[in-house]
Amino acid sequence: MTVSASADPAKAPSPDAGDAIKHLKAPVDPAAMTWRNPRRDEFWRKIPAWSEVGVEQFGDYAWQEKNAITSAKKLVDTVRDLVSPAFIADVEAGFHQAPMAVRISPYLLSLIDWSDPYRDPTRRQFLPVASDLEPDHPMSTLDSLHEMKDAPVPGLTHRYPDKVLFLALDTCPVYCRFCTRSYAVGLDTDQVEKVQIKANKERWTRAFQYLRERPDVEDVVVSGGDAYRLKPDQLLEIGNTLLDIPHIRRFRVATKGLAILPMRIKAGDPWTEAVTQLSERARKMRKDMAIHTHFGHPNEITGFSEDGMAVLHERGVMVRNQAVLQRGVNDTPEAMIELGRKLGFINVHPYYVYVCDIVKGVENLRTTVATAVKLEKRLRGATAGFNTPTFVVDALGGGGKRDAHSFEHYDQETGISVYTAPSVKEGQLFMYFDPLAELSAPIREAWQNESLRHQMVHDALATARRNQI
Ligand SMILES: *Cc1c(COP(=O)(O)O)cnc(C)c1O
Ligand code: SF4
Repeated sequence: MTVSASADPAKAPSPDAGDAIKHLKAPVDPAAMTWRNPRRDEFWRKIPAWSEVGVEQFGDYAWQEKNAITSAKKLVDTVRDLVSPAFIADVEAGFHQAPMAVRISPYLLSLIDWSDPYRDPTRRQFLPVASDLEPDHPMSTLDSLHEMKDAPVPGLTHRYPDKVLFLALDTCPVYCRFCTRSYAVGLDTDQVEKVQIKANKERWTRAFQYLRERPDVEDVVVSGGDAYRLKPDQLLEIGNTLLDIPHIRRFRVATKGLAILPMRIKAGDPWTEAVTQLSERARKMRKDMAIHTHFGHPNEITGFSEDGMAVLHERGVMVRNQAVLQRGVNDTPEAMIELGRKLGFINVHPYYVYVCDIVKGVENLRTTVATAVKLEKRLRGATAGFNTPTFVVDALGGGGKRDAHSFEHYDQETGISVYTAPSVKEGQLFMYFDPLAELSAPIREAWQNESLRHQMVHDALATARRNQI
């Protein structure tokens, strides 16, 4: 119903007055709406080893798995003369120094711009090069979030009042350099001997037993590792067991699959069918099941992702995205806005953007809390509110996820931010530390000195206590 301001019918707007429609917003060139056309070219054919591979084969999940890149030698055999010997030497040294094992799907490898691999956002996330690496922040640890310390059963972290994190397994179809769980996930590397959280029935049984005894838990995050690596019957077993526990109202299955190997999300694929079955059963029980995936950069969204998402969306499976904010990958408004719009276009809800955790070997990928807050301001208002991610810092020492801008104190000079988490650990203070590379030279020096370091931390905590809101 329209309400006219004037009671005089002569002054009421007339639909056939012939007036031009007034456009308040400037017109937009359709070519600028890049997110509406996920690429469908045969982009992999420029990789020498795959120049003869057709779309059938490239779109085959088993072929992708068989041809995953796991060593520097395999990389050279695949990309051949696309890269210089100096780059290869840099990669070999990078493999040696990284805390994470390397595994890249042919799909991701083909999305890398090999004319400029140093700057490519996909290369930066998955392929370590020694010349990129920066010394770890002095406050970094392997398990910086205390997931092991907050675990009543191995691989089950109970930190929040009503939700838990269940690590079902410790392998993934690709390994990310910035993995929070580098203490456990993937094969041992030269640098790290991993904690074991294998897909093990006995361990799962203990976790389920704990959940049955805890009626306060309503929500389970099934993660790892990556649930893409669970066999369909294992996924069904976990999902159905959770659904059978009356007080568990919802669970989410965390997988990077859709983002890094979408070829498996197809009608008839047993894993996709298992997901569908669980989602339908959950709905019939008036419970909720969702997939949480992990796109980091708009380049990762292609026609393959669009097709995979179409299957899940038609079947009513809710998919949310959790991205990790990384320097030189997605730390610009352009990259983040494009990512959000592309995700929205294929019906994935952007849920979180994490400020990168302070684990070993990721210093060159980390950004400042200030970067996160600036991006947050830019994104809010760019599109629908439900397609606008929340920027969070997973506070060191187990404070849990905090809104990036909700610090009690933040000193951009020392890079220290201090948070509280009243519903998680009442009365405690939690910190995050910006990467050293983004600080001034004298402050970087100060961080290397033990007593100055203690002084900076002490001062920040004291100020936070004083200023607490
Ligand atoms: C992230 C996380 C959860 C889930 O948190 P949400 O904010 O609901 O996504 C649960 N438990 C742990 C230990 C976590 O790290
Ligand atoms: S997929 Fe997840 S668990 Fe696996 S390496 Fe990447 S961040 Fe870590």
